[in-house]
Amino acid sequence: MTHSTPMIPVAKPVLDEREVEAVRRVVLSGWVTQGPEVAAFENEFAAFVDAPHACAVSNCTTALHLALKAVGVGPGDEVITVSHSFIATANAIQYCGGVPVFIDIEAGGYNIDADLIETAITPQTKAILCVHQLGMPCDLKRIVEIGKRHAIPVIEDAACATGSEILWDGRWEKIGKPHGDIACFSFHPRKVVTTGDGGMLTTANAEYDRKFRLWRQHGMSVPDTVRHGSKEVIFEGYPEIGYNYRMTDLQAAIGREQLKRLPDLISRRRKLARQYSEHLDAMGLEAPSEPEWARSNWQSYCVELPASFDQRTTMQALLNAGVSTRRGVMNTHLEEAYMGKGLHRAATSLVRSEVAQRSTLILPLFAQMTDADLSFVVSALRDIFAPAARSAKELVSS
Ligand SMILES: *Cc1c(COP(=O)(O)O)cnc(C)c1O
Repeated sequence: MTHSTPMIPVAKPVLDEREVEAVRRVVLSGWVTQGPEVAAFENEFAAFVDAPHACAVSNCTTALHLALKAVGVGPGDEVITVSHSFIATANAIQYCGGVPVFIDIEAGGYNIDADLIETAITPQTKAILCVHQLGMPCDLKRIVEIGKRHAIPVIEDAACATGSEILWDGRWEKIGKPHGDIACFSFHPRKVVTTGDGGMLTTANAEYDRKFRLWRQHGMSVPDTVRHGSKEVIFEGYPEIGYNYRMTDLQAAIGREQLKRLPDLISRRRKLARQYSEHLDAMGLEAPSEPEWARSNWQSYCVELPASFDQRTTMQALLNAGVSTRRGVMNTHLEEAYMGKGLHRAATSLVRSEVAQRSTLILPLFAQMTDADLSFVVSALRDIFAPAARSAKELVSS
């Protein structure tokens, strides 16, 4: 054999000449920072999710920071969230001086256990920050009801959930249509659509949207785009401290092309996920599943390993077979940045979160994945997990 083993990556952004052309247009326009392309991307994103306002920022972490700040999270305030998420979720709370209050994930999934939220509420609770983990919608309806009952704002970390859908009063709606107070999205290449780096905030609250626009640009009262087009001299003011959290027009132009692709990307991803699930069922493995009120964009396809399989050993065996995987979602409370530092509070046991981190793996799933790629991965899985292979392994290890 002269060719080497193919390596199936775990994810891959879809980018081609269309994005190149979009960037070319912006470069040659001479306006490359936040400007008309950002405004157009915001309008198109708002229309896509059906939100009155969408504000683009540099990434989802900065979006989360501004969202928490907008609902008034400040020093000592508590925000109920999950440890079982990318560390940015909790870090954004730290940026406001707030305290992440961690509760566990649900049984049989990787999202916040809505049943535990009320036990974590204290007079210091300033927000609930729920995560649509791996693109799977969390139980937003229940969470919003709890938030309303206690007058606590709900912020959605929708970093992974661009294009995911939830059934709301009998209609399928995109995540980002405001039911919670603010939703935050990511356009990192590991997500379903990308701008290199990038983020978006959607809300129905015009005052929040006004603040996001002020804060993302140093708190500047008159944006440069307005001054640039004015026939009169304008001096801007700085009524409060802001940040440089802008998205550039180069990124937004790419985002606009990505948004056009999104429906096709999601339908391909959903088809691949269905095929994986059928094969996993046949191997006796538990496939991840959607509640009947949710449609995932399958940003990640995460599988629970049978108890007898070690995570690292299994991932290495798959890597040796040419299949790249990742471990499941991390736990913030187990990282050195948080552990023993007094920066967070655990309001419940986090045992499900911890088990999920060490007993799951994320399989390759990307829109360009061919049926042959999928068969290749499935056959590598079958070599490890099929009942015959499994009993042989268990014999060896006993
Ligand atoms: C990726 C991710 C983020 C951070 O997004 P960036 O755009 O990289 O800042 C936040 N939360 C979750 C759940 C994520 O998966």
